[in-house]
Amino acid sequence: MSAPAWALELVERVCADAGVAPPRLVWRTRRTEHSTGVARRHAGTIVVRAGVDPLDVRLTLLHELAHWLTPLPARRGRRRTPHHGRDFYRVAYALYRRHGLTDADALRLEAARYPSSLRHAVALGIAGADALLAERRERLRARPRRRWRILVPEHPVRLERDGRWTVCAVCRQRVVGANLARMRRARRPIHHVLMTWAEPVEEASA
Ligand SMILES: [Zn+2]
Ligand SMILES: [Zn+2]
Repeated sequence: MSAPAWALELVERVCADAGVAPPRLVWRTRRTEHSTGVARRHAGTIVVRAGVDPLDVRLTLLHELAHWLTPLPARRGRRRTPHHGRDFYRVAYALYRRHGLTDADALRLEAARYPSSLRHAVALGIAGADALLAERRERLRARPRRRWRILVPEHPVRLERDGRWTVCAVCRQRVVGANLARMRRARRPIHHVLMTWAEPVEEASA
């Protein structure tokens, strides 16, 4: 399927403004709200899977174009330049603003995918970013904590076959790899316990 005219024009314009050769745009669609994309420098392509929200499609294409304009420098020593770091977002937010997204929409859509983008947006002075970041931190603080719960109390492991797998006969947990080797070697039975995340308990409303 070929890319829509607006998308091809956008690629041409952004690359002409930056003075770089444009990628080949590969276009797919998906039936979800959000779009996804990837910029493949070695292949010379940007692939977009366009969802149904037109603003989100536009942001996704601009996001991949920002990658296209900000190639990662070669690794220097042990430190790696982050894929979605400050330099990337400086370019990305400028493109969003210049090519039809309000700061509010850009912040919202970008943060839906990469929450860490808000931190960079604040540093770059994007209007409204600090309020969104504060709101997000407040939400994380207020979220009920999940707790570990014991599903099967501590017991000696008894290995048995279950089809392709070796499981503990008591709790049916699969035992694999280094753990399995260790348990087979052990002279005395190894004990373990099966834990699970307990979902936060909602208050019953009567
Ligand atoms: Zn990205
Ligand atoms: Zn067990």
